[in-house]
Amino acid sequence: MNRFELVRAQTTTQARELAAEMPGSVLKAGGIDLLDHLKEHLVEPPRLVDLKTIPGLAQIAVDKDGTLKIGALATLAQVAAHAAVRASHPALARACGEAASPQIRNVATIGGNVLQRPRCWYYRLESYKCFKKGGDVCFAVAGENRYHVLFGGGPVFAPHPSNAAVPLVAYGASFVLDGPKGARTVPAGEFFVLPDKDPTRENVLQPGELLLEMRVPSTKGWRSAYYEVRERAAFDWPLVAAAIAVKVEGGTVKDARVVLGQVATIPWRSAAAEKALVGKPLGATSAEAAGKAAVEGAEPMSDNGYKVDLVTTLVRRTVASLA
Ligand SMILES: Cc1cc2nc3c(=O)[nH]c(=O)nc-3n(C[C@H](O)[C@H](O)[C@H](O)COP(=O)(O)OP(=O)(O)OC[C@H]3O[C@@H](n4cnc5c(N)ncnc54)[C@H](O)[C@@H]3O)c2cc1C
Repeated sequence: MNRFELVRAQTTTQARELAAEMPGSVLKAGGIDLLDHLKEHLVEPPRLVDLKTIPGLAQIAVDKDGTLKIGALATLAQVAAHAAVRASHPALARACGEAASPQIRNVATIGGNVLQRPRCWYYRLESYKCFKKGGDVCFAVAGENRYHVLFGGGPVFAPHPSNAAVPLVAYGASFVLDGPKGARTVPAGEFFVLPDKDPTRENVLQPGELLLEMRVPSTKGWRSAYYEVRERAAFDWPLVAAAIAVKVEGGTVKDARVVLGQVATIPWRSAAAEKALVGKPLGATSAEAAGKAAVEGAEPMSDNGYKVDLVTTLVRRTVASLA
């Protein structure tokens, strides 16, 4: 690991100024993914600007209209344990509560979680100059790709790694960003971007911008759930994940959001699975149909065809749990 200095910001403006003052500086939240990057020589910043010392950025509150406001510095453990989050947005509480290990969840922040970089082993090895590192090849295509994507791949095929991002997109959350040009709010569904335009990026956060808060609309009238499948029950990223929210009136689904994790370079919204649910009674038949529809258009790679069956079963079970 190269030498770097650590500075502790007291305000968001100061954080941006401290980062701008020394080119190549990076922001630190919990530091879980960042420290991996430093040790793997994927980033070599002269300065880390600690955001954890900024008061008020870790708050979780509920507005009068039921909107959940989660500060980007709230830890995964705080989000998972928060009574209001568990009651109104159970898919988000569960996704945060199942990520990583208890030790990591006590340190990792929800902002850092959605901003963590892909886990692809080629990206994580300094010696492989892949698309993500400004190269011109995705080594997973002809190489080891059993954890890679089914949808939206190319030229990068590494899945988006964040648990929290999946329900945030399903709930129609917005992200509040603060940059040199002022604050802006971006819908979660537009925050994460496919790699076709710029393979080095996973989202629209600009250099010098901070993620301040996530606003998650009220779920009044909606039911929601998050489930994932992992290789082992201990800490690890899921193989596939699903966050599903449905609005049911008179026993019929009026609106549905089906978002899949670990199968695309972004949290993947399945329009076909949503269509299979809307207008139908919520039950075993619609759960079966949604599971099958969720894999329409899947393009498995050489070693990840098993994910198609996992998604089918996971979506079916998640819908059934809501029925
Ligand atoms: C063994 C292990 C298992 C794991 N399993 C899972 C899992 O199952 N599911 C899952 O989702 N994750 C998993 N993770 C990943 C872990 O949850 C993330 O690394 C962590 O959430 C990152 O949060 P952080 O606060 O530590 O971010 P940091 O490492 O501090 O930051 C991550 C990145 O975001 C930037 N950043 C952070 N906060 C802000 C902000 N507010 N504004 C602007 N930029 C910011 C940083 O500059 C950095 O580039 C696992 C990690 C490990 C080590």
